[in-house]
Amino acid sequence: MYYDAIIIGAGMAGLTSAIKLTSEGKKVIVLEKQPVPGGVATSFKRKGFKFESSLHFVDALAPGEEVRDFLDEQGVSRKVEYLELKEFGRVIYPEHDFTVGNDFEALKARLKKDFPHETKGIEAVFSDIARFSGDFDRFMDSKFPLWLKLMLSPIFYSSIIITSCLTAEQLIAKRIKDKKLAAILGTIWGFMGLPPKELSAFYFLIVLRGCWGRKTAYIKGGFNRLFEAIVDKIRERGSEVRFNTRVTQITTDNGERVKGVITENGEEIRGRAVISNANCIDTLSKLIDSPVLRDYYAGKLGPMQKSVSAFTIYLGLDVPAKALGMENSLLSINPTYDHSENYNNSLSSNYGLVSLAVVDHSQLDSGLAPQGKSTICIMTLDNYANWSGLSAQDYEQKKKEACDAILTQLETYLPGITKHIEVMEAATPKTMARYATLPEGAVYGLAQTVEQSGVNRLSQNTRVKGLFICGAWTQPGCGIHGCFVSGIDAADMALKQLKK
Ligand SMILES: Cc1cc2nc3c(=O)[nH]c(=O)nc-3n(C[C@H](O)[C@H](O)[C@H](O)COP(=O)(O)OP(=O)(O)OC[C@H]3O[C@@H](n4cnc5c(N)ncnc54)[C@H](O)[C@@H]3O)c2cc1C
Repeated sequence: MYYDAIIIGAGMAGLTSAIKLTSEGKKVIVLEKQPVPGGVATSFKRKGFKFESSLHFVDALAPGEEVRDFLDEQGVSRKVEYLELKEFGRVIYPEHDFTVGNDFEALKARLKKDFPHETKGIEAVFSDIARFSGDFDRFMDSKFPLWLKLMLSPIFYSSIIITSCLTAEQLIAKRIKDKKLAAILGTIWGFMGLPPKELSAFYFLIVLRGCWGRKTAYIKGGFNRLFEAIVDKIRERGSEVRFNTRVTQITTDNGERVKGVITENGEEIRGRAVISNANCIDTLSKLIDSPVLRDYYAGKLGPMQKSVSAFTIYLGLDVPAKALGMENSLLSINPTYDHSENYNNSLSSNYGLVSLAVVDHSQLDSGLAPQGKSTICIMTLDNYANWSGLSAQDYEQKKKEACDAILTQLETYLPGITKHIEVMEAATPKTMARYATLPEGAVYGLAQTVEQSGVNRLSQNTRVKGLFICGAWTQPGCGIHGCFVSGIDAADMALKQLKK
């Protein structure tokens, strides 16, 4: 069988590429090594509880937003039910504790109340965010070719250029002097895996405006329902999605043009384009059959900084979490106002003092837990190096210690939680690395530093004609929305190639 395009991996970006190509009448095959779609964002069940393996908050799913519009157009929305998300969640610092909604005006008012001496700075920082947002939307909507948009950027999209050269900390410090307020404005750094001091202001603003500035939704039944709905649609259009199928090689014509792939059972599948949603290190420096290109990409990617990993605890509670004080679906716990310190605590396994993101998914959809019970996901960033090379016994011991320290910390905010645990599982950086094949468990792909963000980030294009990459490792970056954009861009490039 010969396909227009072969997609390696059924993560968010791979599925997006696939459905976009099928909507243009192309015949594709998606090859996924796991038995289910969704990659790192999959959902799973344990003893009547259903858990999101990773997702806390996904932006752009409200009517009129980018991902939702696309899903509506593709007929995928008819197969799922959206549950409106009324707020981002509760943000806790040693001296501040408040709810962040989904519009900047309410947040601005709240911050002015707590930091009256920064009223002018707060106005200025939100004006900066609004200017960036406007420039970014116009940049994305413009039909000019990318090279022309980039050339025109200093005149028409100047805030994109400015933020591309700054860290999030530098951006905020231009307007805000109060360190506590600056920390609060930088709260969502954990969604991108670098503290504001090291994080690209450009990607920080993209994520901030989506999470704190706009409405969004959750998928009833869990995000796996969305991934399954996309798979259904791809199949309805006559294309294929195969699970339990790992790709072991990308075949090329002497490294010049892609020919297809070989799967682990030796099957050769031919296609005019290949889009890989597998991590870029495997795709470019291991899977391509040309040793020269593999060496080239190993040299290029080797020095690049990977993102951190994560540690997640999944709890099935025998009571509604609300009964323990979980009034909001999401809790962002920040032990100090110094995010570099919070980050370093994650890197050094100081679990009693790490920042935590806690989500009660059953508050969004009561069907995710048995009646009168709840489904909790607790996440912190983590360091793969601290988990590698441990004996099986030491690994289990470290996992237990990490869970104990995190749950002890959580007792401060949700007293009594440890007495109500009916089901408990934990995923370490090793789990992240193994499940979605992420080198060093790098859950956000390449780190979103200034040097690796925006136009500096890996593009979807490669040196092999017809071979494209997509997903968190590529432009624009991690997150369901980011991977969606990446998948669309890869599909658009493949479509151009297919026209030749
Ligand atoms: C703990 C955690 C919390 C997160 N929280 C959020 C959040 O709240 N909101 C949000 O928007 N994002 C969040 N993210 C990020 C988001 O989940 C990811 O950025 C996104 O899902 C990555 O999608 P991807 O397209 O890069 O593919 P991946 O999910 O990396 O999937 C790649 C797929 O390719 C498959 N594959 C790899 N190699 C091969 C091969 N050789 N052959 C066949 N198949 C292969 C893998 O099995 C996998 O299914 C979180 C991530 C983590 C880990």
